[in-house]
Amino acid sequence: MKLSVLSLFPGIMRGFFESSIMARAVQRGLVSYDLVDIRDFANNKHNKVDDELFGGGPGMLMMPGALSLALEASGAPGPRVVYVTPGGRLFNQAYARDLAKEENLVLLCGRYEGIDQRIIDKYVTDEVSIGDYVLSSGEVAALAIVDAIYRLIPGVITGESLDEESFEGGLLEYPQYTRPAVYDTLRVPEVLVSGHHANIEAWRYRKRLEKTLLYRPDLLSGKGLDDQLRQLVQEILDQRGEE
Ligand code: SAM
Repeated sequence: MKLSVLSLFPGIMRGFFESSIMARAVQRGLVSYDLVDIRDFANNKHNKVDDELFGGGPGMLMMPGALSLALEASGAPGPRVVYVTPGGRLFNQAYARDLAKEENLVLLCGRYEGIDQRIIDKYVTDEVSIGDYVLSSGEVAALAIVDAIYRLIPGVITGESLDEESFEGGLLEYPQYTRPAVYDTLRVPEVLVSGHHANIEAWRYRKRLEKTLLYRPDLLSGKGLDDQLRQLVQEILDQRGEE
């Protein structure tokens, strides 16, 4: 996959692409990337990229000129172009899986009050928000999206690590423990050191359900519950009522 990230501050993102799993994915040829400085495309004397809003209002907006030149240098229109914005569709794991199928992906980071609407109309295929809060610019949001996507590209990390992660199968992940078995008087759940695989699996599934019911019951409402699952959910709710 080729990732092009367009920003006024590409330096914010460089460390991410040069570190750890991403660096290895790049080295192995699974991912390539281009960090594009939008200001390099400003063809005016002071490299100005923003201006006041037509109709008035606070703040500045990124002007269309440099944005369109930077986008076209990255192949747009053509590849999917994701503009990260709090006003977009909420990003989630299913969205990440969908974007991970692309051969070429362009991510556009806003700054100030955002970007001129005509750029969205002409080039942007996806307006995506990473959550209901406002960041000062798009780099952190673009990195969150890139990070969620590239690890789904076959070969980047092992499939097994992905299978039981949060959101796979519509559930959050179960609690996890490592050595030592007793830490500061706190012991790992007995079942996990029993060596009984079926019991471990049943325990983990129940914990996934418990956690999902506690923090994200909305995930369960979109899931078809068979009788066995319905019974387990009821058991957990009854148990919680008694506590
Ligand atoms: N005026 C905009 C609004 O109210 O929707 C907010 C602009 S914000 C200060 C500047 C830039 O940060 C945006 O153009 C966008 O690229 C990025 N940004 C801020 N919050 C974001 C979020 N929740 N998800 C994705 N991008 C975000």
